[in-house]
Amino acid sequence: MSVPRPSGLPLINIPHRVEGKSLKTWSTPVHNEEHSPIPCALCGGTEFVSHFTCTDSGSTVPVVSAAEKPPSFRYVRCAHCRLVQINPQPVPAAVALRYGKNHGVDYLAYEKTNEAAFLRLQELALKDSGFFELERGLMSANPKGPEVLDVGCAAGALLLTLKGRGWKVRGVEISKPQADYCRERCLEVSSLPLEENRFPAHSFDAVLASHLIEHLNDPANFVREAWRILKPNGRLYITTPNINGLQARLFGSSWRSAIFDHLYLFSVKTLTLLLESAGFTVERVKTWGGLAAGIGPLPVKRIFDVLAKPLGFGDVMIVRAVRPA
Ligand SMILES: [Zn+2]
Repeated sequence: MSVPRPSGLPLINIPHRVEGKSLKTWSTPVHNEEHSPIPCALCGGTEFVSHFTCTDSGSTVPVVSAAEKPPSFRYVRCAHCRLVQINPQPVPAAVALRYGKNHGVDYLAYEKTNEAAFLRLQELALKDSGFFELERGLMSANPKGPEVLDVGCAAGALLLTLKGRGWKVRGVEISKPQADYCRERCLEVSSLPLEENRFPAHSFDAVLASHLIEHLNDPANFVREAWRILKPNGRLYITTPNINGLQARLFGSSWRSAIFDHLYLFSVKTLTLLLESAGFTVERVKTWGGLAAGIGPLPVKRIFDVLAKPLGFGDVMIVRAVRPA
């Protein structure tokens, strides 16, 4: 297993705005929802310490109404396993409501606008994870095409690409407008959460989840279900922000990924422990993204971007895990 070492940098928490604008990732706007305290999703612990409090959700959309606007949202860190999480946490029913066409947010339009850029990033991440090398073996072993499930498949661009490469593809997308759009593109996509689809055991050679796990109330249940539906030697590919990366350490509560929609912020270590608890073996971890645009001169950004991957301090990570035979 090749796992980058944690950077060991302290949390610095520099306010991060360029020309007065937040550089946070787009999010559902902060609004009042029912919250409930939960045990840690990784270790079951009930003791937490404050990690940071965010006053900027990352949304570019106004809140539902000024009266509903809470001042902030807060991340805590499990005192035992160090998993960073929003806790008390919005209840699952409230979270599910975020991803339809609610709160003035049109996720389908957002995905369509950014489709080419997002697809390129997903393909680069899969390349880093060794996906395409494994694909060659799967293609020769499965003349009808190996089977892949993309969970949180958005508008289906990656599924279309993989279909074109010979995969038998299916998707899960709880945002109904996006799932409908996928079906218009002749893709088989369910709008139920993964666990409710009751896919038969051992259905897939690969399960993909890009920028998904940090949005889920119960990431442990998600990885257990992925394990169940994967064939022996099947692989799970998870892409998620890296809270041990340089930018998370520098910017703290202003970090681009510290947004209202991210219920969990994983490190390589906490994500590895979560996967191992479900029976997976982590085979490969890659991180990328050294500094966001606008923080310093472009040549400096380029140096940090180049160094992030080999040194493991990148802003986003992809983790490839195998379900042992
Ligand atoms: Zn914990």
